[in-house]
Amino acid sequence: MSDVKSEEPKNQSREWNYHPDLPIPNSPVFAWPPEPRRLAVWFKDSWFSLSERVIILGFAILTWVYFQPPLENCKTLGVEWIAYVYARNLILMTVVTTALHLYFHTWKKQGMVKKYDPRQLATNNGLYSFRSQLWDNVFWTLASGVTIWTAYEVLVLWAMANGYAPMLSWSEHPVLFIFLLFMIPIWSSFHFYWVHRLLHWPPLYKIAHSLHHRNVNVGPWSGLSMHPIEHIIYLSASLIHFLVASHPIHLFFNMQWATLAAATSHVGFESVVIKDKNRLDLGAFHHQLHHRYFECNYGNAEMPWDKWFGSFNDGTAAGKAMTRERLKKMMAKQKGRR
Ligand SMILES: [Zn+2]
Ligand SMILES: [Zn+2]
Repeated sequence: MSDVKSEEPKNQSREWNYHPDLPIPNSPVFAWPPEPRRLAVWFKDSWFSLSERVIILGFAILTWVYFQPPLENCKTLGVEWIAYVYARNLILMTVVTTALHLYFHTWKKQGMVKKYDPRQLATNNGLYSFRSQLWDNVFWTLASGVTIWTAYEVLVLWAMANGYAPMLSWSEHPVLFIFLLFMIPIWSSFHFYWVHRLLHWPPLYKIAHSLHHRNVNVGPWSGLSMHPIEHIIYLSASLIHFLVASHPIHLFFNMQWATLAAATSHVGFESVVIKDKNRLDLGAFHHQLHHRYFECNYGNAEMPWDKWFGSFNDGTAAGKAMTRERLKKMMAKQKGRR
């Protein structure tokens, strides 16, 4: 836990109320040459402390133990168990995202401390459905996001129950079982980078992804506020369970990571600060930069795809200049095509 007071105001700038130390680092998992010390700290902070990913993994395990109808019942597509799965996801998304929204944006429990964007969420703005950024985001998250999330989950559960998707049991393969849990955020990051680049292909951007990008200044409900086409593409990360033998706990972790961690990564604040100490890391400045500057940081800090493919904006003046240059080239290329 770091002391917050000592970090201000050097972490303020004209564009940001707060930003982390720059340049922002990538995950040490793929660092070359290897950085064992940084890797050990990252691994401990991510997996062996009360981190966001440990909390979401806890939700996935609880979902399997207490809130999942027996797999036997999922052999046929019955209304009852599908409605149950839908209600479960609806409640989970609503409770987590509402808690984040109330804490940070309605009750402003930590004021502007660790808030990236100096602005508040938009109200009375015709850009959004219902003229409200919040209700626009709630609508697309719940009406489309939770529905498509549930559809994928139902499909994989039905396939697992019928033997169409390969299953892995804890008792027979405990090491592989745990290894796959560690792999899910990495898979998710890999999938996200590539589908997100696809979503920035101008025709798809225009009809689908621009809806998510209405949110330049983001809040927790912005995370899963997407067009149905984007939900279908983004949540297709679940189809990996048809290829890799896994357990419903892996499926729930994969899907809850894609949905709940979208709420936390868009929260607009870097962390929960209580009594001047960071208690829980949430926000992702890497993705906040994507919402501000668009054509950069398509992935996340989990995997350095952006660095490898020249789209990394590390938040410094040089990173910004690189993004501007990239955007200019993209526009020229598009003009040339017309
Ligand atoms: Zn985007
Ligand atoms: Zn986003």
